[in-house]
Formats: sequence, C-alpha cells, structure tokens
Amino acid sequence: MTSPWTGHCHRCQKRTRIHTMSKFNVDLICPKCDDEERCHPDFPLAAKAEMDAVLRGDHHFPGIGWPGLSTVVRAPSFWEGIFSRSSSPEAE
Ligand SMILES: [Zn+2]
Repeated sequence: MTSPWTGHCHRCQKRTRIHTMSKFNVDLICPKCDDEERCHPDFPLAAKAEMDAVLRGDHHFPGIGWPGLSTVVRAPSFWEGIFSRSSSPEAE
C-alpha cells in the first residue's frame, strides 16, 4: 500500500513540501514528477483507469503501474477490459 509521506518524493527522492498522488500507482510524488506524468502518453489511460476504479467503489486501486518516463504501458487487452467495464452498472 501507500508508503507514508516523509517529505521526499517517492519517485525522484527529492525533498519537497508539496506532493500529490500518482495516477499511475500509489506513489506520492512532487510537482515535477506530477508534470512528467501529465506529459506521459499513457496519462489519460491511467487517469481513466483510476476514475473508473473510484466509480466502481474500488478505493484501493493500485493504479496501472508507472512504466517510466520513456516507456509506454502496452497491454491492449488490459485496456479493453478497463474501458468495457466502465459503463457496467453493477455496483453494490
Ligand atoms: Zn519527484
């Protein structure tokens, strides 16, 4: 699960006073790493996957995983699953 906030970015280890949670995983990251995520080609997918999880009532969604700055998450079948499930009304 999420590591406690220690004042250091979980991704780049830089000391920072401001942090936010990654859309790709549960890392707590600094604004610079947040910016880098938002520029990542998979960011819309990561954000959608997280949003869908929240809408499903899944508040422990671990994220799709951070592929790294220069790598893309490639799992078309995974994405089909995410996107086709998103409209299903089966909530508890
Ligand atoms: Zn950082």
